[in-house]
Amino acid sequence: MKRETVKCDEIPLPISRIGLGSWAIGGWMWGGSDEAESIRTIQHAVDIGINLIDTAPVYGFGRSEEIVGKALAAAGRRDKTVLATKVALEWVDRNVYRNSTPERIREEIEDSLRRLRTDRIDLYQVHWPDPLVSIEDVAETLLELKREGKILALGVSNYSPEQMEAWRRVAPLHSTQPPYNIFEREIETDVLPYALEHKLLVLSYGAICRGLLSGNMRSDRKFDGDDLRLSDPKFQQPRFAQYLKAANKLGQYAWENHGKSLLAFAIRWILDRGETMTALWGARKANQLDAAEEAFGWKLSAGDYTEVDKILHETITNPVGPEFMAPPQREPVAV
Ligand code: NAP
Repeated sequence: MKRETVKCDEIPLPISRIGLGSWAIGGWMWGGSDEAESIRTIQHAVDIGINLIDTAPVYGFGRSEEIVGKALAAAGRRDKTVLATKVALEWVDRNVYRNSTPERIREEIEDSLRRLRTDRIDLYQVHWPDPLVSIEDVAETLLELKREGKILALGVSNYSPEQMEAWRRVAPLHSTQPPYNIFEREIETDVLPYALEHKLLVLSYGAICRGLLSGNMRSDRKFDGDDLRLSDPKFQQPRFAQYLKAANKLGQYAWENHGKSLLAFAIRWILDRGETMTALWGARKANQLDAAEEAFGWKLSAGDYTEVDKILHETITNPVGPEFMAPPQREPVAV
C-alpha cells in the first residue's frame, strides 16, 4: 500500500497517518468482540503498512492490550509497529474513573508492558485529565518512565490547551489525542490550533464517528449488548436520521468530485488539516480496512471543506458532540 507517514523524533519508525484503534477489539462498550478476527485485523493492518496501533488498559479491562500483544508477538510484528497505549483510568467492578496518581501510573505501566508482551511503549498517553492530581505531577511521572526506558514518547488525550501548556513547562509533550471527525469539530477552536502551532502529533479519535462516516451505516442497524451506540445521542432518532442524511450527501459529494468512498473522504478530511494529523480508525474486521489505500495520495481543497460545512449546515439542525464519552472523576478523598 502507498503510505503517508509522519515523524516523531522520539520514535525510530515513520508513523503511518492512519492508525488502527483497538477499543472495539476489547469488546467492552461495543457489544463484544471475536479474538481470532481481532488478531487477524491487527496483523493485516501492520502487513498493509498501518503501523500505528492505539490501545488502552481500560478497553475491555485489559483485553484489548492482551489481544494487541498476542497479535504483534506473532511473526515479528512488534518491531514494525508504533505501539501507543494509555494510562490513568482505573476501574472498579466495570465502573471507570480517572486516576492519574503516580502510584496508579506506576502500577499500570507494568501491567501494560506485560499484556502487550513488550519492554517499551512507543507512545504513552494520559487518557483523561484527573482534576485531583496536578498536571505537573503527571508529566513528571511520565518523564521518569521515559528516563527509565519504559516509554519513548509522551502524550495526552482529552487535554485542553491550558493543561498541555502546564505539562510542557515540566516535560516534553509529543502528542495529543482528541475526538475529531467531520461531525465532531469542537477542537477546532482551541486544541487543534494549539496542537498544530506546537507541532504535536495529533491522533484524531473516532475518525469515522463510530461508523456513521463508514458509508455502511443504515437506519435499521441493530446494536447488541453494551454497544455504546445504544446510548450515543447521534444514534437516537430524530438525530440519527439527520446524521445519516448528512453522511449520504457527503458520500455523494466524495464520489462525484473525487471518485472516492465516504470513508476515504472522511479520513482525508482529517489528514489535510495539518502535517502532523493522523486518523485513528476503529476497524475490527480485516476487510473493514479495505478503504485505507484509497485515502492516500490525494488532497482536499479549501472548496471541499466549505462544501462539507454547507452539507452539515443544511442537514443537521441539532448537532451534538462526543461529551457523552467522558468518564467521571473519583470522589475526592476526605482529609
Ligand atoms: P471509529 O473509528 O469512529 O468507529 C469504529 C467503528 O466503526 C467500528 O467499531 C466499526 O463498527 C465501524 N467501522 C470501522 N470500519 C468500518 C467499515 N469499513 N465499514 C463499516 N463500519 C466500519 O470509533 P472508535 O473506535 O471509537 O475510534 C477509533 C479509536 O480511537 C478507538 O479504537 C480508540 O483507539 C481511540 N479512541 C480514543 C478515545 C480517547 O478518549 N482517547 C475515545 C474513543 C476512541 P461495527 O463493526 O460495529 O460496524
